[in-house]
Amino acid sequence: MTESVDEGGTPALEGGRPVRGAFLPFHRAVIGEEEIREVVDTLHSGWLTTGPRTKRFEQAFAAYMGVGEAVGLNSCTAGIHLALVTAGIGPGDEVIIPSVSFPCAANMVIQQGATPVFTDVEKDTLNLDPDRFREAVNERTRAVIPVHFAGHPCDMDEILAVASEHGLEVIEDCAHALEAVYRGRRVGSLGDYGAYSFYATKNMTTGEGGMLLTRHEDRVDRLRMLSLHGISRDAWKRYSSEGYRHWETVWPGFKYNMFDMQAALGLHQLRRVDGWLGVRRRWTQRYDEAFADLDLLTPLGRRRYVGAAHHLYVILLRLGKLRVDRDRVLDALQAENIGVGVHFRAVHLHPFYRTRLPARPLPVAEWATERMLSLPLCPSMEEGDVEDVIRAVRKVLAYYRA
Ligand SMILES: *Cc1c(COP(=O)(O)O)cnc(C)c1O
Repeated sequence: MTESVDEGGTPALEGGRPVRGAFLPFHRAVIGEEEIREVVDTLHSGWLTTGPRTKRFEQAFAAYMGVGEAVGLNSCTAGIHLALVTAGIGPGDEVIIPSVSFPCAANMVIQQGATPVFTDVEKDTLNLDPDRFREAVNERTRAVIPVHFAGHPCDMDEILAVASEHGLEVIEDCAHALEAVYRGRRVGSLGDYGAYSFYATKNMTTGEGGMLLTRHEDRVDRLRMLSLHGISRDAWKRYSSEGYRHWETVWPGFKYNMFDMQAALGLHQLRRVDGWLGVRRRWTQRYDEAFADLDLLTPLGRRRYVGAAHHLYVILLRLGKLRVDRDRVLDALQAENIGVGVHFRAVHLHPFYRTRLPARPLPVAEWATERMLSLPLCPSMEEGDVEDVIRAVRKVLAYYRA
């Protein structure tokens, strides 16, 4: 391997020279001229809030997903919250959540006065383990929020079987998995709800933003109403030329609506997601090949039946073979001018949850929390960037070999 020339090198953190001079950010979104023009057109149009572009983006998104309707929101977190509200989750209810995730789903369960029950994950994919899910269900359980972690679909047949046996609502967290396919079907339309994120680092972005799907068509009106203050009927049309309409509060709702400058970005980003996925798939293959002979890390596992969205490239360090911990490796990679991340330290270990909920050891999530590290994976990277990441990982890990 050509990389081996660098492997004897001293990491920059230990006084050596970094593998590259310019810092490679962990993520850099691709924003094209079309997006920029559409935002400017939106500004010129005079319609700044939720309006015609949001409608168009919702329709385009629903078409991409092969569903009837999609509800534009200002975040995925808002989508998960509205799903919980319209599913009727409240005090006394328990909601099962994999502990390896972003904390927002658990936070929203708390906001509803319900209790998140953190559950362990599969050792290879870090997705919700269907067996642990089954064990965690009791008579108070009302819902489950599987996360298609790193863009790899959960084992949905198993999860849906347990859910239907116990009458649970299934809210799919698709923040990483916009393009993901499970046994020929898009994730997000398999459960009761699918929530998507267009945060700046996701597979496509509107800066901040989100989308919610539900297979319950009779809940869509209520979702829209709740997303905009709980005001009655097509509130965004209330200042249009169709004549003045009174609006009324029919429920104490939220301020979760997507607005047209976000949709302006989303309309163009959505057209490009499949092309970008192809690039991330290529970089993933290159990482896989380059690390295949390295006994100091394990990439996440992949199942045959899935079309993964390849949102993250997560590696698990083999700490038994290293003389430093994960955080030292993070620092060392940053010193090589490679931006890295950690997705995600187990939520049940965060101070709020650790101190408020009964202790429940989750061995796989805790094991992964100490070992996980995410390498840059985005379509704005070029081949040379990918090779730099590979050289840095091999150099740093070889130096710290026990
Ligand atoms: C980013 C993320 C979210 C939250 O998305 P927002 O749009 O920022 O609310 C939810 N779940 C996971 C797994 C995420 O990575």
